[in-house]
Amino acid sequence: MILELNLRFVKSFLVETRGNVFLVDSGVVGSGRKIISFLEKSGKSPSSIKTVVYTHSHGDHIGGASELKMPHNLIHEKGIDFLRKGIPKKPVLHSAPLKLLFSLGSPFFTRRSGPVFDVEKLNEGELFPGIQLVFTPGHTEDSVSIYVEDERALIVGDMLQGDKKGLKIPSIYEDLNQLRRSIEKVKEFKVEKVYVSHGISGPPRWPF
Ligand SMILES: [Zn+2]
Ligand SMILES: [Zn+2]
Repeated sequence: MILELNLRFVKSFLVETRGNVFLVDSGVVGSGRKIISFLEKSGKSPSSIKTVVYTHSHGDHIGGASELKMPHNLIHEKGIDFLRKGIPKKPVLHSAPLKLLFSLGSPFFTRRSGPVFDVEKLNEGELFPGIQLVFTPGHTEDSVSIYVEDERALIVGDMLQGDKKGLKIPSIYEDLNQLRRSIEKVKEFKVEKVYVSHGISGPPRWPF
């Protein structure tokens, strides 16, 4: 089971498969409380969830991490410092409107949050039974995707964005060639649904 939690313009996910349950991402600073109340409303005791997996270290994905106070916080090795210090990675922008937005001041998704003490490094491969962790750099060097075998679903973080027409490459990335190679890499999985953090999740209508 994969539940999408809408948090302003970004999403967080609750994944439950073969007896394991974990969260993916923590939204922006202040999203922690929203996530906890969402869990309560959906009949999950927040204390029964121990693990958060972060798709990468941008502020709209790790911002609420310190508020959740989870005992296990898993992120790619290159994201550990950002998460531990609560200082998000700076996005590398490739669109004029985004540059304008960022120049208007420090938007809320670059805000600092509190430190996170229980941070562990993600390894590529089986994370839990039925869950494959895939390194998918490009958007950032610490980006990962999560493949949920029983659902044939892929959670891609910001590697792709979704709209009604399908999936597209984001205008924030560190290395476009690497990003394209990461998309080729996940195409090897049997995917029926792609969950994106921004926009509409849906069938794998790849951008190329
Ligand atoms: Zn991002
Ligand atoms: Zn994002």
